[in-house]
Amino acid sequence: MPQSNLSLPRRRFLAAGATALLGLGVSAGPVAARARSLPTPESEVDAGPMVMALTFDDGPSPQYTPQVLDILRGHDVRATFFVCGDNVRTYPDVIRRIIAEGHVLGNHTWSHPHLDDLSAADVRDQIERTQDVVTEISGRTPVLFRAPYGDFADAALVVCADLGLRPISWSVDPTDWANPGADVIVDRVLAGAATGAIVLNHDGTEGGDDDPAPGSGGDRSQTVAALRSYLPQLIDDGYTFTTPDAQE
Ligand SMILES: [Zn+2]
Repeated sequence: MPQSNLSLPRRRFLAAGATALLGLGVSAGPVAARARSLPTPESEVDAGPMVMALTFDDGPSPQYTPQVLDILRGHDVRATFFVCGDNVRTYPDVIRRIIAEGHVLGNHTWSHPHLDDLSAADVRDQIERTQDVVTEISGRTPVLFRAPYGDFADAALVVCADLGLRPISWSVDPTDWANPGADVIVDRVLAGAATGAIVLNHDGTEGGDDDPAPGSGGDRSQTVAALRSYLPQLIDDGYTFTTPDAQE
């Protein structure tokens, strides 16, 4: 949903990093120890030259996720799906297909709130409930987390540290949720393609019912059409694809 632009998540990284640095500068104590241990959101993968990562957020969707999976399967490419627990519970069969086809599931909270607006207890509940339902349905416990809207609140990073979750951001945001046109999404992804790039896409519409992305109406057909176009182009250019869980 509104993943406004590149500057927002980068500012967030700086904020998180600054918190960690402040922790280092403070003399010993539980607060300093906690600040030091907060993980920093990762916006790139490190898997060698011409390797990048595709990520799909807000699903699973019974309508669009299978179309994305068909395209990925057609090119033998693995991707990461940052799913919302509420959707996982509603569409377990889609989750099982994602796993059966070798993809990776990440935690994208239960109901896609702005984490900055929640209490620490509610942030923890959003993340832990999603860990539980994904584990129950897929048999895999997520090791990756992405905050809705890129709002990596400190309270979320604390939970990440506690649960062994690595916060994952992105480096390429084609703003597909705003439906700028499939050709525009293609151009933005191809322009951002680079070694280590993490591409943000949206296969799901979580928040779409009560918090629709402006103008999107929860329609992800442009995301699907764009993937169908840019994926073979990236492969022709020599790119291969990894998932962030494969990195240290
Ligand atoms: Zn999202």
